[in-house]
Amino acid sequence: MNTQHAEPEMLDALIIGAGFSGLYQLYCLREKLGLKVKVLEAGDSVGGTWYWNKYPGARCDSESHVYCYTFSKELTEEWNWSERYPGPDEIVSYLDHVTDRFNLRHNIEFETRVAAARFNEKDNHWDIEVDSGRLYRARYLITAVGCLSSANVPEIDGLKDFEGQWYHTGQWPKEGVPFEGKRVGQIGTGSTGIQAAPVIAQTAQHLTVFQRTANYSIPARNHKLNTEDRSSHKLNAAATRELTRNNSNGHGWLISEKQALKTSAEERTDIYEKAWQTGGLKFRASFSDLLISEKANATAAAFIKKKIHQLVNDPETASSLADIDHPYAAKRPPIDTHYFETYNRDNVELVDLRKTPILRITKDGVVCHKPDSKGQRTEKHHHLDILVFATGYDAITGTLLRMDIRGRNGLKLSDAWSAGPRNHLGLQVAGFPNLFMITGPGSPSVLTNMPAAIEQHVEWISDCIAFMIEQNHTTIESSESSVESWVNEGNAEANKTLLPSVRHSWYLGANIPGKPRVFMPYTGGLDKYRNICQKAADENYKMFVIS
Ligand code: NAP
Repeated sequence: MNTQHAEPEMLDALIIGAGFSGLYQLYCLREKLGLKVKVLEAGDSVGGTWYWNKYPGARCDSESHVYCYTFSKELTEEWNWSERYPGPDEIVSYLDHVTDRFNLRHNIEFETRVAAARFNEKDNHWDIEVDSGRLYRARYLITAVGCLSSANVPEIDGLKDFEGQWYHTGQWPKEGVPFEGKRVGQIGTGSTGIQAAPVIAQTAQHLTVFQRTANYSIPARNHKLNTEDRSSHKLNAAATRELTRNNSNGHGWLISEKQALKTSAEERTDIYEKAWQTGGLKFRASFSDLLISEKANATAAAFIKKKIHQLVNDPETASSLADIDHPYAAKRPPIDTHYFETYNRDNVELVDLRKTPILRITKDGVVCHKPDSKGQRTEKHHHLDILVFATGYDAITGTLLRMDIRGRNGLKLSDAWSAGPRNHLGLQVAGFPNLFMITGPGSPSVLTNMPAAIEQHVEWISDCIAFMIEQNHTTIESSESSVESWVNEGNAEANKTLLPSVRHSWYLGANIPGKPRVFMPYTGGLDKYRNICQKAADENYKMFVIS
C-alpha cells in the first residue's frame, strides 16, 4: 500500500460498489445516521451487475415489480416498469433515478477501483487504496460488490491466437456488438447463454453453441406491462413488500405446500403445465419437495425434458439438449425466451462438448475432437469470426478476493479463506473488524430475489453501526467460534437439499479451477435468515466481539 501518497480522505464509512446494495447502504448511512460516506465504483455509472451485463438478451429473471427497492413508498409510486422482467438499460435507468432522487451522486466516485484495504489496529480504522494510488481512511468498510462481478474466461488453448473478436458476456461493450454477416461461436449454456443465443441467432449469419452441460430452462413469457398491470402492482405494493420480506426466496410468491410425491401423476402434470404456461422462476415453487427429494425432482425434470423434445425438431439436437445430468433447480434455473426453439433455425448449430470436446482455439475458430464412425479421432474446425464467452463468473468470493484486503495482524482475506469462505451470518469475517459484506458467502443472496436480500443486509448493517455509535463502541467483529457455528449451520442447511450434489455448480465454486469446493450461499431461506440476524441484533450483538 502506497503510504507516500497525499493525506487520505477521512470518512466514517467507505462502500465498494454502486449497484443496488451500495446505493441503499449509502442512503441509509448518510440519511439515517448522518455519517460521512463515500461509494467507490469501478464503472463510470451506477448499476452494478447491470452496468456490465449488457449482452444480447440480458434480462433479469425476477419480475420488475419485485426487482426494486421497497424502502420508499414515493419511489414505488413514481417509478413505472415497462416489462414483466426488466432489461439492463431499464434497471440502470431505475438506479440512475434513485441516485438522483435521493441526491446520492455526489457521494460516489466513479472509475475508481479498490486495490487494497488494510485494518489499522492502532487507530481502529481501515486504510483503503484505489488503483490511482489515492487513499481513504474509514471506520467502517462495506463491500457491495455483487455476487457475479468477476468474469470467468476459461483458459482454452489457443485463445491468444484468435484473430476475430471475442467477448465475455459480463464485460459486454457498451456500444454493442454487430453480428450481421458474422459466424459466431458461443461457449456456455447457463442462464446467460440461454438468454443470449436466441438474440444472437436473429442477426448472425451463423451461430454455433458449444454446450458442455445441458440445462433446464422454463419460458420466461416476458411481456410489456400495461397501465392496469402497473396500477395493480402499485395497489398491492405494501402486501408484496410483506411477502417478499417474509418468505424464503424474496420473490412475490410462496412455494406451494403440496408435495410432488403426494400428488397424482395427472394432477402433477397439470400443475407443471400451468406453471410452464405462466412462465418464470415460479415453476420451481410448484411443489415443496422438489429441492429435497430426488424422486420428487425427477418428476419436474421429466416434464421439462419432454418439453425440450417437443420443442426441438432435430431428434439428435433435442437429445443433447435434454441429456441433463443434474436435478432441476439444483443449479441456478434459467428462464428463457425461445431458447430451445432457436435450434430449429437453419443458422444455428449445437455442438455437444461431451461428445466432441474442444481441443483448441485457432486464429479463425474452434477445433473440436470428433470421433468418426470407427471411433478414430478426427478433428472438426468450426470457422468463427466472433467468440462469445457465456462462461460465468468467479462467483460470490471472486471480486472480494481480487482486492488485497488485510485484517488484524496483516491477515489476508485470501489466507483466511484459503479453504473456502468462512464468516458469521455471511456478514463478518473473524479478524476483520468493522468490515461488513453485503450478500457475501454464507448469506441467502443468489438463492433469492436479490433486492430483498440486499435491503435486509443493508438495514441490518445500518442498525449495527447505529448501535456501535450510540454505545460509543469502536470495533465489532466475529469470533472464531461464531464463524465455526455459522459454517456448520450453513453446511447442515445445504445438506438438507439437492443443491450441493451438482458437479459443475458455481454455488460450490466448482466452475473455477483450484477454487475450494464449498457450498457458498445460505440455503435456509431469507425468512429464517432474517430472523436469525434480527435475534443477533436484539441480543445487542452479543455473539460478536465488541470493543
Ligand atoms: P454459469 O451459470 O456459470 O454458466 C456458464 C456456462 O459456461 C456453463 O454452461 C458452463 O458449462 C460453461 N462453461 C464454463 N467453462 C467452460 C469451458 N471451459 N468449456 C465449455 N463450457 C464452459 O454462468 P452464467 O450463465 O453467466 O450465469 C451465472 C449466473 O448469473 C446465473 O446462474 C444467475 O444467477 C445469474 N444470471 C442471472 C440472469 C437473470 O437474472 N436473468 C441472467 C444471466 C445470469 P458447465 O455447466 O459444464 O460448467
